[in-house]
Amino acid sequence: MLSYRHGFHAGNHADVLKHLIQILVLEHLTAKEKPLRYIDTHAATGGYTLDSTFSEKTSEWQQGIGQLWNKTDLPAPVTRYLEVVTSFNNNSSSSKGQLKLYPGSPSIAAELLRPYDKLALFELHSADFRDLKNNFNDDRRVNTSNGDGFHGLISLLPPIERRAFVLIDPPYEVKEDYDTVVKTLKGALQRFATGVYAIWYPMLTSEHSRMFPHKLENCEADKWLHVTMQVRGSRTEGMFGSGMFVINPPWLLEKQLKEALPVIYKQLAQSPDASFKIKTCGLD
Ligand code: SAM
Repeated sequence: MLSYRHGFHAGNHADVLKHLIQILVLEHLTAKEKPLRYIDTHAATGGYTLDSTFSEKTSEWQQGIGQLWNKTDLPAPVTRYLEVVTSFNNNSSSSKGQLKLYPGSPSIAAELLRPYDKLALFELHSADFRDLKNNFNDDRRVNTSNGDGFHGLISLLPPIERRAFVLIDPPYEVKEDYDTVVKTLKGALQRFATGVYAIWYPMLTSEHSRMFPHKLENCEADKWLHVTMQVRGSRTEGMFGSGMFVINPPWLLEKQLKEALPVIYKQLAQSPDASFKIKTCGLD
């Protein structure tokens, strides 16, 4: 029984980090005029209403996107992220010019991909899958599956396009997700070593969460970039930060994150010991 619903968390500090990186990676990959496959192993619904019973209950977005919205003089990568969120709101007459909606990773990808690219979206939760399917019914580039994204990913590799961006964004509500991510990643790299893979994870005090970054860094990838952003100190309750591990990152990503993160972590800080880190391997 799946209890995680992303609607409670949409637009929070972890979504800001994840979606900023997703946008920067997609922009690099779509700069080349060759078809690209986007694979979202854990897609959720694709879009959220910030005044819904879900998001109002936690209001996590107020400490995430809410802290950046309407800010000016931001570095170019952060401005680009805000443009994508703005465009998602502007597509609906009831939210034009306001922050009422928040895009999920499938909508961000659909906005940035071109007519000849393809999207494969997996979602296991039946209610979220229904919404996902409805949201992308008219988009012929999109294939949605109400199935397990870990298996689904392996079944699609290598992609016929020979170019792919894979987002792996599980809820980690069951601790097995940590090991399944590493196992799936190893299998995926054996089938398709040149893909760009981005793995999101929460920073929590649990043993599984604390060991996970080391497991990712030892997953047999040659080139990677590892970003973490903490909004509070690491001994605090709940998710005090999150990480994104990107395999085969575009060459400009590190530079862009070094511009964006010093600004973002300060805006989103919930205590004086907020921080961020960027670590790389195999990139010159
Ligand atoms: N990627 C989405 C975004 O950024 O907008 C958010 C995804 S949310 C963190 C994780 C989603 O994975 C939930 O909707 C959950 O129902 C779904 N899920 C959990 N286990 C899954 C699995 N094995 N395969 C596919 N989806 C799964």
